[in-house]
Amino acid sequence: MRAVVYRGINDLRVETVPVPRLDAHELLVKVAVCGVCPTDIKKIQHGTLPPPRIFGHETAGIIVKIGTGNLSLVTRHSSLKVGDRVALHHHVPCLDCHYCRHRAYAQCETYKRTGITAGFEPAGGGYAEYVRIMPFVLPGVVKIPAKNSLEEGALLEPVNTVLKAVRRLNLLRGDVVLVAGQGPIGLMFTRLLQLQGVRVLATDLLPSRLRLAKKFGAKWTRLIRSPQSTAYNPSPAEDCGLKTVDAAIVAVPSDAVVQQALQLVRGGGQVLLFAHTKRAAKSEVQSPKSKVPSPIFQIPSPIPQIDLASVCLDEKDLLGSYSSDFTLQREVARLVFSRQLDVRRLITHRFPLEQTSAAVALAAHPTEDSLKIVVTI
Ligand SMILES: [Zn+2]
Ligand SMILES: [Zn+2]
Repeated sequence: MRAVVYRGINDLRVETVPVPRLDAHELLVKVAVCGVCPTDIKKIQHGTLPPPRIFGHETAGIIVKIGTGNLSLVTRHSSLKVGDRVALHHHVPCLDCHYCRHRAYAQCETYKRTGITAGFEPAGGGYAEYVRIMPFVLPGVVKIPAKNSLEEGALLEPVNTVLKAVRRLNLLRGDVVLVAGQGPIGLMFTRLLQLQGVRVLATDLLPSRLRLAKKFGAKWTRLIRSPQSTAYNPSPAEDCGLKTVDAAIVAVPSDAVVQQALQLVRGGGQVLLFAHTKRAAKSEVQSPKSKVPSPIFQIPSPIPQIDLASVCLDEKDLLGSYSSDFTLQREVARLVFSRQLDVRRLITHRFPLEQTSAAVALAAHPTEDSLKIVVTI
């Protein structure tokens, strides 16, 4: 089968690899679509994991084989059969360990194992024709209703990560939340918050994204001052007649925005980081091919200038959220498949498997008209 193999920093090659072999109670899924996710871009551009691997984890497709040779597989969570259209989750927590009992699912050892592969060290495998679904991630398989597309199924995973983050905030109806960054993730935040009766102030560098933010339910939108500089509009809230906000979601990897958000939120408010997924490294090794740094991954400064009294004295919470919450899966499916959150409007570009490199490059350098980019197989 064809697969896009990560061979080193910024080196993705279309290769022929064996179709994965199955053990009993495993599934073989023919991949239909796989979303391009910033966390994969990070691994590809910064070489945070050793090659070779086949990335891609926002995957939907059709079950073509079950390891037992039977046509159906009944698990504790669902009954699956050959021909089912399914959305996949590559990480599923044990729900039993110390971390899981604290709902810190992303820290669970079982969760950290990747349960979907197209070959090599499991890494999602969505950029390939077929993937093998291991038993411990079977609870994460979601059937896609007939009226919904496989693309909608592929976006369950990112929507889950956003709903998980929203749930970390203590919000009341009518509250005001700044959502900094209106890429696909920021727009999901805007819509999910609006559905909760929260008023959203959306900011971004691109006017096209702010127009869409309005459609996704933002009450106010403000452009960051200059697309050329990282300087942030110093008073997006004041611009809208707001003195403070109840919470701020930073969906851009900018330390300056975090500092500003901490000043902006009211006492007792919350600042949630969603895009700071790149660890500060002592020495950043840049590959010759990555001379133009991706605007979606700035190198973080090791010690951001934060007045810690704003945390202690003003009781402002600085918190983060990473990856998905398995227990929210049903609700995520309901939101997406009912189209209360209509993810179809987020997909702007589709690339064939052979052009996965180009898909990643575009996702890493968003344009005025690009949002969610998917690879179709
Ligand atoms: Zn993702
Ligand atoms: Zn666990």
